[in-house]
Order: sequence, then structure tokens, then C-alpha cells
Amino acid sequence: MALCSKCGKREAIVYQKHTGMKLCKNCLFEDVKQRILEQVKKYDMILPEDRILIGISGGKDSYVLLRFLPEIHPSSRLFGLMIEEGIKGYNRAETFSFVKSSCHELGIDCVITSIKEVLKYSVDEFMSLQIKRCNSIKISACTFCGIARRRILNVYARSHGMNKVATGHNLDDEVQTYLINILRGDIMRLIQLHPLSIVHSPLLVKRIKPLRTIYEYETAFIAYMEGFRFQETECPYIVERPTLRTKIRELIKEIERIDPSAQLKFLNEVDKALEPLVKMRNMDSVNLPRCSQCGEPTAPGRNICKFCELIDNVLNIQY
Ligand code: SF4
Ligand code: ZN
Repeated sequence: MALCSKCGKREAIVYQKHTGMKLCKNCLFEDVKQRILEQVKKYDMILPEDRILIGISGGKDSYVLLRFLPEIHPSSRLFGLMIEEGIKGYNRAETFSFVKSSCHELGIDCVITSIKEVLKYSVDEFMSLQIKRCNSIKISACTFCGIARRRILNVYARSHGMNKVATGHNLDDEVQTYLINILRGDIMRLIQLHPLSIVHSPLLVKRIKPLRTIYEYETAFIAYMEGFRFQETECPYIVERPTLRTKIRELIKEIERIDPSAQLKFLNEVDKALEPLVKMRNMDSVNLPRCSQCGEPTAPGRNICKFCELIDNVLNIQY
């Protein structure tokens, strides 16, 4: 068995493709922690006084976030929120109880809520209402689910005195999202994705992604090594995920066969290129308008927010 390329003492258990090193468990965990810290410091992502709400999906990335955040911020200032989407066969009681006990062991208060409880319709209910009303699917489950979860995290954090929302998005997620928005030419969205961008409404809580430079295969490996019983069942709506993201994921895999560190380099270059634009935008005294129906912030020039628009669309669809 090969020894770890870093410490030279312990047995290597993982090949870190972007560095070409074979690492033991300790050195991999330390390396991941240092890369999280590097992002946190570079962008002032976490300040000592911050009260942070962690969005827990029950997937591997959110466990890795839960595992590392208490090492860099006091657990008394961390809070977990798990949101049940209301998807038959996907939301499982074992996942909820495992999340609760993991948070308890880490000294993190954790609450479980559901999209239905907060926003009246579960994902399944939203979809069946849509099919009943128009006999077809105009709005995908993922669109509704994503907007609903973001809304719940923001409102929960704001109403419980938390000033940051942390999510477990990894490097692969971030690169895909950057690429999608570059292809769409959506500069405003690109600016919002950058870790230095500020929020333009007192009603919005800043979102942070401490795992944005950690590869998906690394979070999967850590979750496995730590024995996290993460959600492995695939969501039945996964097929509806935007095909552009799926295609981009395939393309990245091809590119990484030639250059295994392509994603990290891409992220760093786009971060750098966007920085002057982000700083300029941060100086704008924009205050986002509020939705005329629910009062939550919405995009400039809009009268109602995206969530109310989705609900209106489904409730008012004509045969
Ligand atoms: Fe929600 Fe789509 Fe993810 Fe399923 S695949 S949990 S519907 S975002
Ligand atoms: Zn609204």
C-alpha cells in the first residue's frame, strides 16, 4: 500500500486528482479544512459575531458542512434548518432523525420544517395541482422546490436573528452555475453568485458557500469515511432538472480527463474577473422592491416575487 504523499506516515486512501497526491484520511481532512478556511478568510465569509443558519438537505454536502463549520466557528452560533420538500418516497424519517442526532452531537441546535408547513403547498401538491389545472407541466418541480427552500431559509434566518445562511454547494455545483449563467449572458446573476456580493435589501440574509472549492468527489469520500447516513435515494423529479446543467456536467467531466484541476482554475479565474464588477455593484444604493402580495423582496422592476408568480400561474391556469 502506498504511503500518504503529504505526511509519508499513514496509508494513502484517496487519490486527489487535482494535486496528483495520494492522501491519508487525516491529510485529506486537514487539506479540506484549510481550503474552506482559505475561502472564508479571503472573502470575510464568516466573522466572529456571525449567527449562521445552515441549510441541511440531508445529502452528503450538508453533512460535510456540518462536520467542518464547528471547527471554524463556535457551535453556539450555528443553527441547522432541515426542510422537508414533501416528495413521496424521497423524504424519509431516518434521514430526519439522523440529521437531528448529528446536530445534537456537534452541539448545534436544529429544527425541521416543511415547505407545506411554511408555504402551504408541498412539492408533490404543487405538481399535482398543476397537472390537474392544465394537464401538463409548465413549471418544473425543481423550480418550485428551489425557490421555496431559498425563501424558507431566508425568512427563518431573518426572523431568528441570524445574519448568514450557509449552504453546502460544492465546487462542481458552483462551476456549473457559473457556466450556465455565462451561457445565458446573465451578468447580474453572475455578480450575485460571487462571494463578495452584498445583499440589496434589509430583508435578505447574506448566503455563504464555504465548500465552494471542495470537489464533489471529496465531499462524497468524507461523508462515506465519517459514516454519515446521507440521503442516497434519488429524487423522483431529478429527470426534470435543467438539461443544460446535465450537459455541462458531462462536458466538465470530459475536460477534467485532460486537466484534472480545470474546475478550480475556472472558479478562481471567474472570481477574479467578476471582482471589479461586484465591487461596483456593491456601491450602488439599490434597495430591492417588495412583492405586492407577500411583502418579500423581489427583483428590480418587478411587482410580485418569483414565488407568488409561480403560485399565481398554477392557480390561474386556464383549461
Ligand atoms: Fe427538489 Fe428538484 Fe432536488 Fe427533487 S431534484 S429535491 S424537486 S430541487
Ligand atoms: Zn411574493
